[in-house]
Amino acid sequence: LYNTVQDLKGSIRVYCRVRPLGTTGDTAPTCLDVGMDGELAIYDKSGERKVYKFDRVFSGDVTQQRVYEDVQPLIRSVMDGFNVCIFAYGQTGSGKTHTMTGSQEDVAEFRGINYRALDDLFTLGSQRSEDIDYTIKAQMLEIYNESIRDLLTEETGSSGKLDILSTQPSGQNVPAAKQVEVTNTADVLEMMRLGARNRHSAETKMNERSSRSHQVLTIIVTGTHRFNNSRTHACLHLIDLAGSERTDKSGVEGERLREANSINTSLSALGTVMHSLASKSKHVPFRNSKLTELLADSLSGQAKVCMLMHVAPENSSFGETVSTLNFGNRVASV
Ligand code: ADP
Ligand code: MG
Repeated sequence: LYNTVQDLKGSIRVYCRVRPLGTTGDTAPTCLDVGMDGELAIYDKSGERKVYKFDRVFSGDVTQQRVYEDVQPLIRSVMDGFNVCIFAYGQTGSGKTHTMTGSQEDVAEFRGINYRALDDLFTLGSQRSEDIDYTIKAQMLEIYNESIRDLLTEETGSSGKLDILSTQPSGQNVPAAKQVEVTNTADVLEMMRLGARNRHSAETKMNERSSRSHQVLTIIVTGTHRFNNSRTHACLHLIDLAGSERTDKSGVEGERLREANSINTSLSALGTVMHSLASKSKHVPFRNSKLTELLADSLSGQAKVCMLMHVAPENSSFGETVSTLNFGNRVASV
């Protein structure tokens, strides 16, 4: 089983990906230095150097394929019945969507983890098809201002807000959410386009909403063993988090303030949950945010979690980069 190998590494791993310089038109010098063995050094203005250590650090020239290879064993363990969460964390513009969705869906080498994961699950499913009959479904939600919206359903006249049924396991805990069966990569592309379109339609009403909401793509895998009809059931959650940048709240009012507070609530709840899990604390406060409540049973127990910390390399991002690295460190160092 893929999971046997994964078990040796513990249930939470933290990787850090550095975006290449200049993708936002900023060609300012960098404050980062990627070292060997998961080390990342950051220099402040006075040249003082601080070294962070992660399970893996990807420099700006690392390909999508290479990043995928490091999460692949986790993703494959979903086929053996283990819940998995993969989070992209970082400030807006640090490369989260590039990692998860990819930049140009029509160019294979730029495709992100979401597409690659599904493609891989199909391959594994067909390799095992003599013994196990797999069904793969997808659900795509957006969490914005602590309310949940379905990205696979056209927005209707109603509020469109969905509730979490905490007594149900993840993948079944938002009963009103639409789930679509996907059997091949064409289905996946269609599903992702629909999600992107629905996400975008909310965005035009409110500029750049995608950087202030969490996108949660959940893949629900059910396997039925042909010889005894026993079943495995597991979820893979692929999460593109809201931008982690701290809004200067002075002078910010209304909707903007609400957004900033919601993001702050959910990201700090996530950090606290991960820290409690990693330190095997008895009380894990899943109920402190919609995000952690939604994912509760896929973060605990036998579940596997991977945090992909994203940082922008420019000097101008120094403050946000430090705060992202500290967030990752808090979880990684336990
Ligand atoms: P975020 O989702 O964190 O706001 P994006 O994924 O949208 O950030 O990335 C910002 C810009 O940088 C996009 O134009 C994206 O295509 C580009 N980019 C991000 N990461 C990489 C990378 N590893 N290689 C090439 N371009 C990247
Ligand atoms: Mg994004």
